Order: sequence, then C-alpha cells, then structure tokens
Amino acid sequence: MIADAVERYLEQHGYERMALKAAMFDMDGVLFDSMKNHAKSWHETMAHFGLDLPEWEAYMHEGRTGAGTINIVSMRQRGYEATDEEIQRIYQYKSNLFNQCPKAERMPGAYELLCKVKASGVVPMVVTGSGQKTLLERLNRNFPDIFRQELMVTAFDVKYGKPNPEPYLMGMEKYKRTLSSVKGERRPCGEIAANNFIVVENAPLGVQAGVAAGVFTIAVNTGPLPDEVLLNQGANLLFHSMQEFCDEWENVFEGLTVDN
Ligand code: MG
Repeated sequence: MIADAVERYLEQHGYERMALKAAMFDMDGVLFDSMKNHAKSWHETMAHFGLDLPEWEAYMHEGRTGAGTINIVSMRQRGYEATDEEIQRIYQYKSNLFNQCPKAERMPGAYELLCKVKASGVVPMVVTGSGQKTLLERLNRNFPDIFRQELMVTAFDVKYGKPNPEPYLMGMEKYKRTLSSVKGERRPCGEIAANNFIVVENAPLGVQAGVAAGVFTIAVNTGPLPDEVLLNQGANLLFHSMQEFCDEWENVFEGLTVDN
C-alpha cells in the first residue's frame, strides 16, 4: 500500500525517487488534540450571534482564517458578508470561549512518532496557521528536543495561509535557508525540492495545501469527517490516528527511502 502510494506520487510529479529530508507537521489536530475545543467554540459562538455552524462543519473549515469562516456562514445564511467590526466581535467571542476550554492534550502517539522520525535522520518541522504567542514554548514543553524555531512556520510568516500552498512552500524555503548553509556560509542549494519532504495533516484544507505544494501528503484522520473527505483532497496515504502512523513509521520510512 505504501509502495504503491509512493510510486503514484513519483509518477505524477516526475521524480525518480523520494529523497526524504524533513517532515512538516501541522499542529492542531495532529500534535495536539485541540480541534474538539475549536469546533465547540465555533459552534457556540455562531449560535450566540444567531448563526449556524455545526461542530462537524467546523472541521471542514479548519485552517481557514476566522474572517473566512464567518463570511462563509454569513453568506449562506444571510446572503451578505459580515462587516469588519462584526467579524472582530465574533472572532473575539470565539477566542474567549476557546481560551476557557481545558488545555488540549498532546495527541496520543505524537511524541513517540516525532522521536522515531528524528531518529531516522528526518528533520521534524511545524507548519501551522496558529498565531499563539507561546507556541514555541508550548511545543518545547510537550515535545522536548524535537523542534527548532528557525524551522517553524506560523501565522506570522504567511500572507494567505492554507489551503494556499504558501505555508508549506515557506517551510521548504526555511529548511533550505537554515540547513543548507554551514556556519553562515551560503552554499548552492538548488537540490531542495518537494520530494525532500512529507506533510502530515488532519484537515481537508491542510491536505489541499500540502498537495498543492507538490509534497507527499499523509492524512491523519483524527476528527469526525469521513476518510474520503481527506482522500478526495489528494492525500497520498491515510492513517486513522497518530498512534497508528507511529506504529507504521518504520514501514512508511522504508517506503519513502527505498529506491523505487
Ligand atoms: Mg490541523
């Protein structure tokens, strides 16, 4: 199954083989079990403002900006977009509710997987639409010795965000800038390409972004959506939990590194 998925990817993108160097992990719903809190907060917020967004649908919008999500619901239900002021009020309300939720736990299997990835010589990176100020500190506390700040892409780095490929292209660029120069000396590094990476995503829009960036994208379905929603966005492989992915890492790594 893994070998077939890799072969299809290589054929589609015209690469001879994978040359895996780094794994770009999304954060919410992949590293932290935080999507339940987001979905619940969105649903309750919309209800408070007379708008209807079921919890399951919030998973469909994961990765979109707050304004984007609010306007989709507003257009659908009222036929017009929300004003900037209204967007701000709704988003503030949602953020307050979210901050009152119990802190999201580490996704089961995530740390173990990251340790395995690193031990395989693959560099783990985080590519998230989140803009929490304490992000790095929180990541380091939960996943000690795994991530480097120079290799992180957050809301502060990008203009468009997922489903645009921008965050993942930016991740590739950061890898190139950081790890292909030695002691500040610039070396030619034209060899960095999409086949040096994998993307790990739980959300349909995130999978879309990874695929649009031309990267082999592994979906981890940690939420309530049917697998097809992620596969239809072009996911190359799918696991049902981070634990399952972790248990399969050796096979995945072999499939991605063996000469195809
Ligand atoms: Mg996510």
